[in-house]
Amino acid sequence: MGKFQPRDSFESPRFCGVRTFMRLPYAEELEDGIDFAVVGAPFDTGQSFRTGARFGPEAIRDFSILLRPYNVEQDINIFDHVSGVDHGDLTVIPGYIRETYDKMVEGLTPLLERGIVPIVLGGDHSITLAELRAVARRYGPVGLVHFDSHSDTWDAYFGQKYNHGTPFRRAVEEGLLDVDRAIQVGIRGPLYDPEDLEAARRLGLTVYTTSDLRRIGIPEMIKIIRDRVGRGPAFLSFDIDFLDPVYAPGTGTPEVGGVTTAEALELVRGLTGIEFVGFDLVEVLPAFDHGQITAAAAANVVYEFITLIALASARRGEA
Ligand code: MN
Ligand code: MN
Repeated sequence: MGKFQPRDSFESPRFCGVRTFMRLPYAEELEDGIDFAVVGAPFDTGQSFRTGARFGPEAIRDFSILLRPYNVEQDINIFDHVSGVDHGDLTVIPGYIRETYDKMVEGLTPLLERGIVPIVLGGDHSITLAELRAVARRYGPVGLVHFDSHSDTWDAYFGQKYNHGTPFRRAVEEGLLDVDRAIQVGIRGPLYDPEDLEAARRLGLTVYTTSDLRRIGIPEMIKIIRDRVGRGPAFLSFDIDFLDPVYAPGTGTPEVGGVTTAEALELVRGLTGIEFVGFDLVEVLPAFDHGQITAAAAANVVYEFITLIALASARRGEA
């Protein structure tokens, strides 16, 4: 049984208490026996269109109190195998992206040094560069599974190198990714130029559009991702705009023609066996959300991340 687990909602109504992810204990101080930590990065200075993703972490936490510990689809009682906490939010400095990156690396390093898997709640997608810097410092260049309707490999926006449209180009340039083990899935929507898509491929990333995914189907896509990432540490970055705006209206740069929440959950569930050392869920923008649709989807995707960690731990226990 995990040392740190959610409060029992049979004992205490789930709407009681302070909102931590899934009612996990809030732990500012790290101690032994923590397998994963949910951490907020309430930063949206990197957004190029709508702003407000700084309120993403609180919206995801707010919905997450409804999650229950037994994952039916994966047939696992998560906290029989792992222990986790909500580590609160990383320090961010609105308006100052480079300084925020430094603060984020500083905040994530103690977790990574202890072998705790960080699950970061964004925030806009610019934050992933800081996460990858911290992760690569601990593990070296990592594999990448990136779900998004955008490739986020533009060179610059408004002449600026750091924002939510550029993190994966910067990550490749900085040598943070093992590009031969990196894959982007879900790209769609109008672009500025055919070059936009080619640029990602030239960086060495494998790119699958949402149309590719529709043609191939989910089981085959899962197989392709697993084959591509293979063995070794990897990072999973999930931009909520991978979902169709019908399923995730609360986001900064929505693109129509995306997948359903059910399809996204099925994809993530298929990624067992990959050695994920970090996760993030970004671009939730509550001001444009309705009825917590986006927050619900985001919380449930994060729940599947935690399940993957639990499944990996269960497999190690059996080995
Ligand atoms: Mn993105
Ligand atoms: Mn996106």
